[in-house]
Amino acid sequence: MKKILLIIAIVIFTTLLLPLAIVWLVGLGGEGNTGSLESGSVSVYVADAGRAEDMGINQYLKCVVAAEMPADFETEALKAQAVAARTYLYSRIEDAANGNIAEGHNGAAICTDSTHCQAYISEEERRESWGAAADEKWDKISAAVEETSGRIMTYNGNIISAVFHSTSSGNTEAAVDVWGSDIPYLQSVESEGDRLSPKYSSSLTLSEEEFKNKIDENISGTDWTGELVSNINRSNAGGIISLDVGGVNIKGSELRNIFSLSSANVELTRENGNITMSVKGYGHGVGMSQYGANYLASQGMGYEEILKYYYTGVDIETR
Ligand SMILES: [Zn+2]
Repeated sequence: MKKILLIIAIVIFTTLLLPLAIVWLVGLGGEGNTGSLESGSVSVYVADAGRAEDMGINQYLKCVVAAEMPADFETEALKAQAVAARTYLYSRIEDAANGNIAEGHNGAAICTDSTHCQAYISEEERRESWGAAADEKWDKISAAVEETSGRIMTYNGNIISAVFHSTSSGNTEAAVDVWGSDIPYLQSVESEGDRLSPKYSSSLTLSEEEFKNKIDENISGTDWTGELVSNINRSNAGGIISLDVGGVNIKGSELRNIFSLSSANVELTRENGNITMSVKGYGHGVGMSQYGANYLASQGMGYEEILKYYYTGVDIETR
């Protein structure tokens, strides 16, 4: 009797409960609450509001492009930005479907914090800051997103890490020089239009005392009896990979952070007891340069050409 009950229990479990459990689990990990390409919507953690919201994929992307690029940029540059933003979104949706959701996203696939995912500004806020030109600008951004609908970048069939920055030093940086890992589609390329960017050059002058104090606030073990700065190791694009400051080896990105510099492409000069840091470019310098993309678009390049220029060897496909 017990045997029969056991068999009945096993049959019920495998024919009814197990499939239900599988459907439930797949549902949680997949299309449950993070959004999907099929549904055309995505769950976005809106950092300012402190809650997750479901949004249409293109509506979300319009709010990203509106935050990441000036609306008066060339249409093809805006389209390139839309595809880069969509590529980033799809990789987050793919991660979420694999159960890989960032802490702080409250279960959403992506968030609106520019320091974590990508920048975002609501349509309402953006229209308010644009004033009279709002309709024209919003329509232009909307068209860039709609006309590239579903378009993303892949490398060997895999969704790429579509990083971008404002302005390069005239050459973009290879990922290996900035983050230490060689990524085939994130190599250094010339980006001459960046020299026209309003963010191309900046500088900071400090007394030697201020320079030393600022370094000592951030790193320990310096010895100021020797060279102030030495052993500067640069990438081919000119960014500082590493250098010795007060005898301590730090990364170029650390120097950038300590002095809140626009990039790690820095020339240091010492004169009359002062240190001047002359900086080229704005941002990490890897992947697409936004001002460079705008320049290429002004020269007649289409968005696909622009993307293939900055992301070496990628394909652009519709998903
Ligand atoms: Zn995030």
